[in-house]
Amino acid sequence: MIKKFIRKILGVKEDGRDPTQPVILGFDEHKIDPRNVSRNAITVTQTLQEAGFQAFVVGGAVRDLLLGVKPKDFDIATDATPEQVKRLFRRAFIIGRRFQIVHVMFGQDLLEVTTFRGNGSDNAPKDEHGRVLRDNNFGPQHEDAARRDFTINAMYYDPATQTVLDYHGGIEDIRAKTLRIIGMPEARYREDPVRMLRVVRFAAKLGFTIEPTTRAPIPVMAPLIDNVPAARVFDEMLKLLLSGHALACLKELRSAGLHHGLLPLLDVVLEQPIGMKFVTLALESTDGRVKAGKGVSPGFLFASLLWHQVLEKWNAYRAAGEAPIPALHLAADDVLETQTENLALQRRIATDMRDIWAMQPRFERRTGKAPYKLLEHPRFRAGYDFLLLRCESGELPGEIGEWWTAFYAAEGGEREALLAAANARPRGGEAGAPAKRKRPPRRGPRRSGGEGPAAAQGGEE
Ligand code: ATP
Ligand code: MG
Repeated sequence: MIKKFIRKILGVKEDGRDPTQPVILGFDEHKIDPRNVSRNAITVTQTLQEAGFQAFVVGGAVRDLLLGVKPKDFDIATDATPEQVKRLFRRAFIIGRRFQIVHVMFGQDLLEVTTFRGNGSDNAPKDEHGRVLRDNNFGPQHEDAARRDFTINAMYYDPATQTVLDYHGGIEDIRAKTLRIIGMPEARYREDPVRMLRVVRFAAKLGFTIEPTTRAPIPVMAPLIDNVPAARVFDEMLKLLLSGHALACLKELRSAGLHHGLLPLLDVVLEQPIGMKFVTLALESTDGRVKAGKGVSPGFLFASLLWHQVLEKWNAYRAAGEAPIPALHLAADDVLETQTENLALQRRIATDMRDIWAMQPRFERRTGKAPYKLLEHPRFRAGYDFLLLRCESGELPGEIGEWWTAFYAAEGGEREALLAAANARPRGGEAGAPAKRKRPPRRGPRRSGGEGPAAAQGGEE
């Protein structure tokens, strides 16, 4: 115990390693397939190295390479300053305030080049809760490593020599499938509460276990996320929901004690047994699309997550005597207003959500020209996908979804026949859905701009 304490004071690691000296792994140990390293990442490290600087692939890309996965993007770390980096590339831009970084562009491909951060953050400006507001202190590589969040995210790969530099036992944690924060967990979460969301996302995405001391403070420290600017929390939530493992992430958030009181959206989603089936289906379908490399629209996703809240309010307004369509808009206003405040939902996303919700009652009008008009709605495909989710979750009879699938695919006269068949069928059997109890009035729902190609969940199938 005393030995451990002395080691801590001296900054010597428990395994006796000097934290300023990395373990250097050769190809035989890391087995990174060079074909998984992007051409542009190699160009950037090479250019920097030829100019006399150190340069490595770093962070998530090294983690993914070690796991045998082709990284989706490459971050580069260097001892060159942002200005020195910028001068070496034709299309390079210094961005950021909190952390200055350089964006190096090759056509559509963007690489982030970061200068090694030093541990001068004790003097960095902080808010009253200890959150670091800005940090542009540069320093040596070992300090940069210590500033990173998790051991598995703090390794450096040099494509030229094919070596991996590991300061914090990241390679062992990769092998043991463990997520371990670097340093004292409480202090690291205080500096940046978003790390609590990151650990959950990585655990779910990689199927790793959160090491107990990394996990323990999270439920207690969760409220600190309230002090993080809403836009940053929203970005992280979006990453989480679009990770291809959204369902697993939400379960993990709940089990880590992160879902309560801090993200209003999650409270709504996770605490509602009736909505759970719908949300589960929506997230399963989103995860499926992400894994298949198809696009997902955030508007569709958030419209699904909040649908049951809209339904509840819609019913309440109708019970209070509002006509169905205005009641739906009032419900949408209420839900969007609360969520925009808390989640910084961008206007464009909110517009998509409203369009998707507003279309729903129109799917139940299968007479005259109404279905033809609906087909022409610029967001038809998204509204239709949403309708299918409602059917699948049992909120609406499956027959409505099947009918629309047929009507959508049909041509010319077939559509007339389908319409005739729908109208010949005895009405009823469609109870249970609020939209069905009363037929909506003739007036179509208010459209709120946001036109564009029918993007569906994400476009083409
Ligand atoms: P992803 O696969 O989601 O891109 P990533 O690990 O690459 O995962 P990024 O947000 O791209 O995540 O960050 C790149 C690297 O920067 C991380 O691997 C980590 O080393 C460091 N980093 C990012 N965010 C933080 C943070 N909040 N605190 C400390 N280090 C961070
Ligand atoms: Mg990354």
